[in-house]
Amino acid sequence: MTTQRTLSIIKPDAVKNDKIGAITMRFEAAGLRVIAAKMEKLTLKQAQDFYAVHKDRPFFNDLVAFICSGPVMIQVLEGPNAILLNRSLMGATDPKQAAAGTIRADFAESIDKNAVHGSDSIETAKQEIAFFFTEAQCFSRA
Ligand code: GDP
Repeated sequence: MTTQRTLSIIKPDAVKNDKIGAITMRFEAAGLRVIAAKMEKLTLKQAQDFYAVHKDRPFFNDLVAFICSGPVMIQVLEGPNAILLNRSLMGATDPKQAAAGTIRADFAESIDKNAVHGSDSIETAKQEIAFFFTEAQCFSRA
C-alpha cells in the first residue's frame, strides 16, 4: 500500500451542523491521519481559483458561493491509499446516490451542500494541498 496525502475540506453545511468531529473520527478510524488543519472562511477569489477546473460548468457560481458561505475545516490527510480511501469514505457526489454509511449519505443534504471535498487524483491532491499548506505546515507521522 502506498502512503499518500489528500486534501479534505469539511464544507460549510457540515461545519454549521457541528459535524467536524464526527467526520474527522471517520478519517482517523479508517487510518487517515490529520497532518495539517486550519479553519477558514474562503474568499471569493480563493474559491474561484480552487474550483477553476469547474469554471465552465453551470453550477460554478453556486458552488463558489456555497463554499464561501461559512467557515470550512481544511485538512491534509495521510495514510495508505489516502486519495481513494477518502473518496470511498465520502461517498458519491450526490448524497442521494451515496452508499449507506458514507459521510455524504449520513451528513449531506444535497449535491450542492454535500458536506465534504476530497482530492480525486495524485496530481490534484498535490496541487490542492499546496493551495492551502506549505510542507512545513504538514506534520507527517508516516
Ligand atoms: P466531488 O469530487 O465528488 O466533490 O465532485 P466534483 O469535483 O465533480 O464537483 C465539485 C462539487 O461541485 C461537488 O462536490 C458538488 O458540490 C458540485 N457539483 C458537482 N456536480 C454538480 C451538479 O451537477 N449540480 C450541482 N448543483 N452541483 C454539482
